[in-house]
Amino acid sequence: MTAASVVWLRDDLRLSDNPALTAAAERGGPVVVLFVLDDDPAVTRPRGGASRWWLHGSLASLADELRSRGSALVLRRGSAASIVPAVAAEAGAGAVFWNRRYEAGEREQDASLKSALRGQGLEVRSFAASLLSEPEQVRRADGEPYGVYSAYVRAARALGAPREPLPVPAALPAPSVPPSSDVLEDWELLPTSPDWAAGLRDTWTPGERGGGDRLAALTGRLEEYGHDRDLPAADATSRLSPHLRNGEVSPHQVWHAVTAADPAGRSSGKFLGELLWREFNYSLLTAHPRLGDENLRPAFDRFPWNPADPAVLERWQRGRTGFPLVDAGMRQLWTTGWMHNRVRMVTASFLVKNLLIDWREGERWFWDTLVDSDPANNAANWQWVAGTGIDPAPYFRVFNPVLQSRKFDPEGTYLRTWLPELAHLDAAAIHEPRGVTGYPVPMVDLKASRAAALRAFDSISG
Ligand SMILES: Cc1cc2nc3c(=O)[nH]c(=O)nc-3n(C[C@H](O)[C@H](O)[C@H](O)COP(=O)(O)OP(=O)(O)OC[C@H]3O[C@@H](n4cnc5c(N)ncnc54)[C@H](O)[C@@H]3O)c2cc1C
Repeated sequence: MTAASVVWLRDDLRLSDNPALTAAAERGGPVVVLFVLDDDPAVTRPRGGASRWWLHGSLASLADELRSRGSALVLRRGSAASIVPAVAAEAGAGAVFWNRRYEAGEREQDASLKSALRGQGLEVRSFAASLLSEPEQVRRADGEPYGVYSAYVRAARALGAPREPLPVPAALPAPSVPPSSDVLEDWELLPTSPDWAAGLRDTWTPGERGGGDRLAALTGRLEEYGHDRDLPAADATSRLSPHLRNGEVSPHQVWHAVTAADPAGRSSGKFLGELLWREFNYSLLTAHPRLGDENLRPAFDRFPWNPADPAVLERWQRGRTGFPLVDAGMRQLWTTGWMHNRVRMVTASFLVKNLLIDWREGERWFWDTLVDSDPANNAANWQWVAGTGIDPAPYFRVFNPVLQSRKFDPEGTYLRTWLPELAHLDAAAIHEPRGVTGYPVPMVDLKASRAAALRAFDSISG
């Protein structure tokens, strides 16, 4: 009889299109599905609060799916470096399979575990599952990673269509005596005192089914996506980001569902371009492991950021800046764990260029509050907005939050949703409210703060 296989799941919390799981099923013998909560920051950046809330729901849903197939999810907490071999030994396993991950500490851990387990005589295989192209497949002629998005996209698309997604394995036989598992609730991933997750529960369904529903909804709305994706009130984007971040939906499934819905390629180009930003950012992360805390442009190491003032930072975090689009976005984030992309750009620009606060403060807040917080996408986008990254928005391009609000939320619909104290104002008044009881006056002068940012930028350039 074939000895068991252990499938160690990480950012790939799904049964369909899961190459490691499929390989284990094809190998024959029992399959042990393992998830390890390893909070060692030297390996993986620990998840923030909203992301931990998501993880609980995702693991609960995965456990249900496995149970309905006569299998089980084994949960363990601690150092994966010792837990994975221990579970393999308990299961009498002959093989350990996983899908690749991309933070530097994760890649190091995977490489050393691979050689340790192979040293013990186990078959160990890792698979490409979370990106359409592996970072090392999309390289310049000189072998270096691309620093410019448009060039990256040309090279990535020249590789041709991504492989077809895999079905859920027909059978996942459980071992007769499965390794013991922690109880998910004991991990305390859900907030209790206070329970701030009501808005998250109302907004999201973590798990593979929730992600599949979002994907199905998108394929019927690609035209709308193309027209309205920049309008925060339209709710025209896919909201797939937390599902992609946790691997409940694979980019291959997304790619093929979208291209099948639009075989002539008339309405899907914009969406696929966004999906490729995710790929580009992962390519950046593997080339620059310190993407989340080091300026990619070293000149910015000398940038005269304002000294950290907790009161100023808190007004931004809580949506009390006096600029409606910034405040609406920050409150959407706090309440639902997600913010519309256009508004993410405006709130980030406001922090960095109007308040002159170091982008890393903003990145950390987003990391804690976003359900989709992602080591590549969050850091790369913050560096893009701040102008400190590779292929960034130029530093001198400072978003004006009032003009952005008039342009992308002309009727003030989005503002009224998140700022009840302004709901009585008409479209002419709501973008620049004056003297409204309960709503703060603007915390900075836009013109003066913009000029100060440009002076600060001049001081480090040239
Ligand atoms: C300051 C800032 C921080 C951000 N932090 C994150 C983050 O932590 N995690 C995250 O997934 N996205 C992040 N983004 C990118 C983007 O805002 C979100 O991916 C998008 O809003 C998610 O909503 P959606 O799934 O409806 O997007 P859609 O427009 O439907 O896009 C589909 C998918 O494409 C990818 N995508 C879209 N836009 C981008 C982008 N600009 N960069 C990279 N991938 C993109 C995402 O995986 C997204 O789910 C950030 C953007 C900014 C400006």
